[in-house]
Amino acid sequence: MSKQFVFDQVNQLEALCAETCRWLWDNPEVGGQEKQSADHMRNILSKEGFVIVNEEKMEHAFYAEYGSGKPIIAFLGEFDALPGLSQKEIPEREALIEGGAGHGCGHNLLGTASMTAAIAVKRLLESKKLSGTVRFYGCPEEELLSGKVKMAYYGMFKDCDIALTWHPGTSNLVIDGGELACAYEKFYFSGVTSHAAFAPELGRSAMDAVELMNVGSNYLREHVISSARIHYSSDNCGFPPNIVPSKAVAWYAVRAPHMADVKSILGRIENIAKGAALMTDTQVEMKIQHGCCEIRPNHKLSDLTWKNMFEAERPVYTEEEKAYAKSIQYTVASAAVERDRAPFHTDEVLHSQVAARDTWKEVTMTASTDAGDVSYLMPMCFFTVANLPFGVAPHTWQATALTGTSIGAKNALYAARIMAGTAYDLLTQPETTEAIIKEFKDADVDYSPMYHE
Ligand SMILES: [Zn+2]
Repeated sequence: MSKQFVFDQVNQLEALCAETCRWLWDNPEVGGQEKQSADHMRNILSKEGFVIVNEEKMEHAFYAEYGSGKPIIAFLGEFDALPGLSQKEIPEREALIEGGAGHGCGHNLLGTASMTAAIAVKRLLESKKLSGTVRFYGCPEEELLSGKVKMAYYGMFKDCDIALTWHPGTSNLVIDGGELACAYEKFYFSGVTSHAAFAPELGRSAMDAVELMNVGSNYLREHVISSARIHYSSDNCGFPPNIVPSKAVAWYAVRAPHMADVKSILGRIENIAKGAALMTDTQVEMKIQHGCCEIRPNHKLSDLTWKNMFEAERPVYTEEEKAYAKSIQYTVASAAVERDRAPFHTDEVLHSQVAARDTWKEVTMTASTDAGDVSYLMPMCFFTVANLPFGVAPHTWQATALTGTSIGAKNALYAARIMAGTAYDLLTQPETTEAIIKEFKDADVDYSPMYHE
C-alpha cells in the first residue's frame, strides 16, 4: 500500500470539496450563528458513514467519527464568516449584500478541507482495514476566539491523540509555534445618575471611570513587553449626555506571546480599573469572558506535516485564475505585497513552493487562534496554504473575493491532501506517532480552559 492511495481518495472528492467550499461561501454565517453551515457538514458526514457526536451545550459544535482504536486523529474544521465582509467576486469593493457577512477569513475552505481529509482517511481505514480512528471536529465561533476553548471546557477533545489543522493564507508554510495568546475581560462600572446641568454634584459618572481607566491603560502600554497588544472598546449603556451615566462598560482584549503574559497584564489593568473607580467614586465589577492560548509547538509533528506539504501535489492555476489573483493583488499597496513576500524570496503572485521549515519565524504572527488551546491538549500541527496573493490580508474584502473561487477550492483540496497524507503516516508508522506523543507528554505543561459558564 502506498500513500498515493490516500491522495487518490482526496482527489476523488474534488467535486464535493469544491461544492462545499462554495456552499459555505454562498451561505455565510457569523460566529455563534453557524446553524446551516454545521448542519450542512453534519449531513455530508453522516451520509458518508460517520457517527455524529453533538455537544448539547453548544448547538453548532460536533465531531464526526469513524473507525476504532488508537490513534484517534482529529482534523479541526471551522466555518464561521465575518460581519460586514460580503463581497462580489470582482477586483473592486462591492458587497453582494450591503452590510452582509462574508468569508473574509476563508473558513469555508478551512472547514471543507478538514472534512474532505477526514472522508479520505475514513475510506483508507475502511478499504485497508487499518486500526485507528478519524474525527472531523466542527468548531464554531473561531472568529470570537471562543469555540474551541468552550469545546475544551466541555471535554470534547478528551480522548484524542493528535490534531491537524490549517488556515488559508498567502504562503505554503508550516507554523511550529507562534500566534498570540488572547483574553477578553469586561469592566462594569456603576455610579449615580443625576441631571447633568441641574445637579451634576449629585452624579457619579461611570463613563468618567471608563475614560480614566482607558487613560491609565494607555500609560501602561510603555511598560509591558513590546509584543503585547492591548485593545479596548467602550459602551455608555445608552445614556444621553444630559444624564450623568450611572452605568458604563469598558471591554478589553489583551494579547501576548504566552498566556502567562496575558494574565499578568490583565492583572495590572484590573488595578487600573480599581483606581478609576476610586477616582470617580464609582464601583467596578470585573468579568473575564474567555481567552485562548498561543500555539504550542510539536516539532516532530511539524516535521512530518512539512514533509507531506512536498509530497502532496500542489495546485496548478489556469491563466484566467492567475489574472484574477493579480487583479486583486493590484488593489493592495505594493509595499504590503513586498513585505509579505520577503521571507519567501519570490516574485510570484500566488505562492507555489513550500516554504523552508523555519520560515514561519520570519512571518508576522500577531493574530490569535482558538486552535492554540487544542495544542495544549494534544500534539497539534498548524499550517497555511496559499489561496491569497501575497499582500492580501485576511479579514478584507479582497480575501472574500477569493475564497469562493476555484483558486480557493484548489487550495482546500491541497490542504486536504496534506492532512490526509500526514494521517496516513501516523496510521502506518506507529513509531513516528509514539515519538510525537512522547514529545508532547515530556513537556508536561498545565492547561485549563479560560472560560466560565
Ligand atoms: Zn481565520
